[in-house]
Formats: sequence, structure tokens, C-alpha cells
Amino acid sequence: MNIRTTISPDFTVIAGPCSAESARQVMECAEKLSAMGVGILRAGVWKPRTRPGGFEGAGAPALEWLCQAREKTGMKLAVEVAGASHVEAALKAGIDILWIGARTSASPFAVEEIAQALKGNDIPVMVKNPINPDVNLWTGAIERIERAGISRISAIHRGFSDIQESVLRYAPQWEIPIELRRRMPSLPIFCDPSHMAGRRELVGTLAQMALDMNADGLFVEVHPDPEHALSDSRQQLTPDGFRAMVSSLEWRREIHDADVRNLAPSRNELDRLDAQLVELLARRMKIVQEIGEYKHLNNLAVLQSKRYQNVSDSVAKLASEKGISEKFVRSIFETIHAESIRCQLENNKTQS
Ligand code: PEP
Ligand code: MN
Repeated sequence: MNIRTTISPDFTVIAGPCSAESARQVMECAEKLSAMGVGILRAGVWKPRTRPGGFEGAGAPALEWLCQAREKTGMKLAVEVAGASHVEAALKAGIDILWIGARTSASPFAVEEIAQALKGNDIPVMVKNPINPDVNLWTGAIERIERAGISRISAIHRGFSDIQESVLRYAPQWEIPIELRRRMPSLPIFCDPSHMAGRRELVGTLAQMALDMNADGLFVEVHPDPEHALSDSRQQLTPDGFRAMVSSLEWRREIHDADVRNLAPSRNELDRLDAQLVELLARRMKIVQEIGEYKHLNNLAVLQSKRYQNVSDSVAKLASEKGISEKFVRSIFETIHAESIRCQLENNKTQS
């Protein structure tokens, strides 16, 4: 998508209320954002709620309020669609950009229905990550939209449901957008720091992380009176709060040849260490194989849980002595152990 704002020439900022609530609220928000140079207004018209009974959006009349705001400010309009009827209504109203929400992108049936309704209309479509951390589901949703003939697709990383307690509402799990970028290098990936944060005080921190992760743009919830917002009240910024947040961001520059030269000695050192790590892993696997043979010949089970627990505890202790994360080292050894088990099971299969 090459719609840019004047905030930064090579970065797209989309902002607006979680929900369009009234003609006045939409207009006030659009006027304030537009005055700051934001070129695209987001607003939910149909709201997918996890539980029934909350505000479910103003529906079709809100499309009219948005069009009035566009008329006045010249902003482009982005709305969420969750099914064919939404697509039809949004296209009929001349909405400029559609987005697919996190609860919808998790359902291939719903995404397929939207894809079918989009056929023949080359409107920009943004696909939020599904609520569960599954990069294949996200990729699949994007592919379905691509197959409908949509040429301007971007992704929105809004974080994932997580059973672990956290100050954040949705866990960023940066490895997932990193993998999406590896799979689809030319796909712009926006970050929605509002839904990740869940509270306005944290939106700026997440937006800065997104810049550091090379996001192509931000998708931020801004409401003229967030305290009284009908949805996502805690995470929406006031227009002034949004201005302050954006102006506090540190913009990272492109990497230059000189940087590559400056970093080369450290990177070469890392390459040597990585080669040694692989060499050590290969040596380790060889010993694993010998142990596996012993177990097989002596009728012992492949999995020896007590031994694994000891290995995990002792590397975690070493990690903490060396000042690196215990959790990180345990998770590496979880992978190493899983591979050791896999190889031993594989060998037993071929020997029996
Ligand atoms: C939204 O952007 O207002 C929204 C409902 O987002 P999500 O689908 O990410 O929860
Ligand atoms: Mn919202």
C-alpha cells in the first residue's frame, strides 16, 4: 500500500477510533488526525465481540458518518469486514481500504466468504493476524485474499492470545511476523500496538518496538474521548496523546554500506561461533546415537525423564551464572532433547 502520511515519508500511519460511535465522534477524530498529517482513518463499523452483550458497532449508518468525514478532510477510510454482507456494504459506500479482524482471519470459512465477495474489486485489504499464534493460518488467510485477485494486500500484527499472565493484552510473539516476512518478503506488515498493549500507557513502548522490528506502518486506536469509548476504552489514545506518542518515537534509518563494514568484524565472529555451535551439536548427536544403541541393546526406554530434568536444570544454572536467560537456554535444550529422542526412536525403528 503506498498511501503515506506526512508524519514520515516512508511510513504509513493509520489511526482512528476502535468503533465509529456517532457522526460527531467520527468527524472530530478525523479533523484532529488529519490536521496532524494522518492520511487514513480507521473505524470499526461492525464489531466482533468475544462475548455477546457489548457494543457491536453502529452498523451501516456509520459508513455514512465516515464518508462525511472523508468529504471534509480528504482522509482515506478503512473499515473491518467479517463477512460477505460487510464487504458488499463497504464497497457500496466506497470505503477505500478493508481489514479482516483477528477473530475472522482465524476462520478459513469466513476468509473464503470474504474472498469470494471481493472478487472483481481490487481494493486494498489488510489481514490481521489470527488470534491464535499460527503463522500458517495467517499465511493462508493472505493467500485466500490474493487468490481473489486482490493486488494490494498488507498484514497487521496485533498480537496473540496467550495463556501466560502478562501486562499486555495480547502477546506480540515477534517471531511470527518475522516468519511471515521471510515467507512473503514484499508484503507490508503493519503493527497495531493498541490491541497488543490493551492500555494506553504501553502503546508507545510497543510502537517503538514495532519500529525496531522494521514495521511498515502503525495501526493505532485514537478516540476523542477514550474514557467514554463504547469499546476498547482503556487502550485508545486521545488525539493529543497520539501526537505525543508519535513524536516520541525514534525513527530508525536504513542500513548503509558503512554500517555493514563497521559490523563485519562482530558478524564474522558470530559466524565462526555459529559454525562451532553446529559442530558441537553434530558431536553431541553422535554420542546420543551411541547412548541410543546402548538403550536399545539393553532394553531401556528411549525417554529417561529424570536424566532430562537434570540436564535442563544444570544448563539453566549455567545460563544464570553466565548472565543469560534461563528460560531461553531451557527452551533450546528442549529442542535439542526433542531431536535426540526423535533420532533414537528413528534408529530403533530401523533396527527392529
Ligand atoms: C479493531 O481493530 O478494532 C479490532 C477489533 O481488532 P482485532 O481484530 O485485532 O481484535
Ligand atoms: Mn478495538
